[in-house]
Amino acid sequence: MNTILRLNNLTKKFGPVTAVNNLSFSIEKGNVYGILGPNGSGKSTTLGIVLNVVNKTSGDFQWFDGTQSTHEALKKVGAIIERPNFYPYMTAAQNLELVCKIKNVEPVNIDEKLKLVGLLDRKNSKFRTFSLGMKQRLAIGSALLNDPEILILDEPTNGLDPQGIHQIREIITRIAATGTTILLASHLLDEVEKVCTHVVIIRKGEKLYSGPVDQMNASFGFFELMAADSERL
Ligand code: ADP
Ligand code: MG
Repeated sequence: MNTILRLNNLTKKFGPVTAVNNLSFSIEKGNVYGILGPNGSGKSTTLGIVLNVVNKTSGDFQWFDGTQSTHEALKKVGAIIERPNFYPYMTAAQNLELVCKIKNVEPVNIDEKLKLVGLLDRKNSKFRTFSLGMKQRLAIGSALLNDPEILILDEPTNGLDPQGIHQIREIITRIAATGTTILLASHLLDEVEKVCTHVVIIRKGEKLYSGPVDQMNASFGFFELMAADSERL
């Protein structure tokens, strides 16, 4: 069983707006996937649907070959789709202990995860003293506490300075090296090229390309479309 997630003609309409349009792709174990598209192309909506926080309009998706309910499957999925939010006056370690309680996970992995995200030396610092990059890294560590099969990240480097961006990208690569599958939504081509092995390129909710990053080909006009989209923003 190597397919982690499969989307079949997934569609989401918000009134007159088609945010996700007939989208199909699959995610295989052990790879690092990017969903690449400009702002408003439907990345977050797609993630919201497969995480059961947005209702689909039509089509289908299946976790782990449909061997279990979505509810059960999502226990094996780590996701960060919002800004990290922890208790400001509690330390990094205390916040992760609380997450373990809430998720009903033994608090045995906390130091390992803090180390993985480069925060072990800040374990006893209060969350409120953390930079945005550190907060984002703590969120990643938190999402890994129950050793999920896949880690889903929605634009995790948004708003960070160059050093913070570099650290997050390195950590994603490190996590992938431990065997965790990754799905990363990004509007940055260079980020996907640096971090991902595979990519699904979308625009206006529609798939333009899916396949290995090293085979994506500028000839179908994606790069021109992206440039035009970003000029309009
Ligand atoms: P991305 O994450 O790629 O920036 P989104 O999935 O957030 O794109 O948005 C895709 C489209 O759906 C956009 O046109 C956006 O305005 C619209 N959209 C997203 N969420 C909602 C919502 N809750 N209500 C109405 N329209 C929405
Ligand atoms: Mg988004």
